[in-house]
Amino acid sequence: MAIMVMPLSESDNRARNKINKMVQNAVKKGVLWKSTYCQDCGVFATEKPLSAHHEDYNKPYSVEWLCNKCHGKRLRRSRRVIVDISKWPNGHIISDTVS
Ligand SMILES: [Zn+2]
Repeated sequence: MAIMVMPLSESDNRARNKINKMVQNAVKKGVLWKSTYCQDCGVFATEKPLSAHHEDYNKPYSVEWLCNKCHGKRLRRSRRVIVDISKWPNGHIISDTVS
């Protein structure tokens, strides 16, 4: 298993955008559940927009729905995302760093 932890780069952003697109498409198709409230603070999606948070980008459909404030807190806590690049056909490396 090839695991790499890398600082945030252009290719990371591309891979993350791709995953986020996959999530959006799955929600549109009705195959992925989207919460109507923030799963951390409980604020309703009608009050604040929610985004999909990944604890593990190796599981693109394993997401939690968080408001921007809670999402920021989570990203600060988990500064890095470790990804098994052997699962990515194009050798994508995904990581997350928040300054
Ligand atoms: Zn929240």
